[in-house]
Amino acid sequence: MLVVTCPGCSLLCEDIELVLKTGAISQAKNLCRKGYGHFQSMFTERTEPTIDGQKVSMDEAIVSAAEILKGAKRPLLYGWSNSTLEAQKVGIELARKLNATIDDTSSFCQGILMERVLKGRVPTCALDDVRNFADTSVFWGADPSNSHPRILSRFAYYPRGEKRQKSYEEERTCIAVDVRRSATAKLCPNYYFRVPPGGDAEFIGALMAVLEGKIPKFGDKKRMIELGTVLRKTEYGVIFPGLGLIYSLQEKMGLLEALVARLNEIATFKVVPMVGHYNMRGFNQLLLDETGFINRVAFSDGKATHGPENSVIEASKSCDAALVIGSDPLSALPFKTAQRLAKVPLIAIDPRRSLTTDAAKVVIPSAMYGLEAGGSAIRMDGVKIEFEAMMESDLMSDEQILARIKEAI
Ligand code: SF4
Repeated sequence: MLVVTCPGCSLLCEDIELVLKTGAISQAKNLCRKGYGHFQSMFTERTEPTIDGQKVSMDEAIVSAAEILKGAKRPLLYGWSNSTLEAQKVGIELARKLNATIDDTSSFCQGILMERVLKGRVPTCALDDVRNFADTSVFWGADPSNSHPRILSRFAYYPRGEKRQKSYEEERTCIAVDVRRSATAKLCPNYYFRVPPGGDAEFIGALMAVLEGKIPKFGDKKRMIELGTVLRKTEYGVIFPGLGLIYSLQEKMGLLEALVARLNEIATFKVVPMVGHYNMRGFNQLLLDETGFINRVAFSDGKATHGPENSVIEASKSCDAALVIGSDPLSALPFKTAQRLAKVPLIAIDPRRSLTTDAAKVVIPSAMYGLEAGGSAIRMDGVKIEFEAMMESDLMSDEQILARIKEAI
């Protein structure tokens, strides 16, 4: 039996017990279905070192990657949210050495909120505080039953905590604000509040009006007043914003800040962004410490500049080579961006096959974190989690591969 840390999402559950047989997981404890899919993929979807689709040695793949990056005038280094802090650190050093643009997945998802959290503009807390103290959890534009399947059982709703011994039966309320009745909304049927697509700014305005004792001019007035009443009775509330809220608010993120500030005049309210990839927050924190920016950075003579032109979507228009690590932009990003990336010499470092590895000029297989390689990462709530390799592997970690590429350059 192996006790492993699961990097299937940013909860980084450390209590996973696995028994592995040749070609499959034969027993698992505490593993959700998402984590099961993550670990099971190590038996079915592994990459091999290739150049132009032809199998080569690891050394040849690494040398080829180094040559492509060295010869590029505007290289783009992208991905990072599924790598350890140690690998990310080497990646930032590599970007500096190459005068490259570096960006991660937060650039088009939670970055706009994460920046506010990391800079202390939005109050946040650890998930252990949620378990011990929170009586109200608001999942807004998020469906954790699918994205972070164990957050309700480990922290937000079902467990007993220091001040919440009666838990969900009497002491915890779980609220879902969403455009549809998601799997999570079905778990808290009395506290599902529907928001029309793109209507979150107006929803916040109506909620603010209710908190001021006014009649809301938006949505179902009775339901808005019910929501205001629950929030007013809260002692320790936590808002978990998901991508639905982020995409809806975008440049109006200040409205969420204002709502949280208003709620904190009534009781304690915190915000924990529902980060998807297991170490996106780690990359944002590291880059912030190194450069003062959480993403979208271009280096020139060792100096960092930041701007929308350095986002993966914009940088893909001018880059002449790209290194993608632990990410599948050809599946996840807009079609035109994917098309552009597929046209430049693409280097993919990944333990698993994806559309991006299939299209890459050079593929470098890496060890799977949590099982074959160890390291550290920052959980969605800012807590550092360390984990070790639990089984022997001939594969190198992302950190080792990047260090070899850097050395070869
Ligand atoms: S909740 Fe996330 S970290 Fe925990 S077992 Fe599931 S996928 Fe893995």
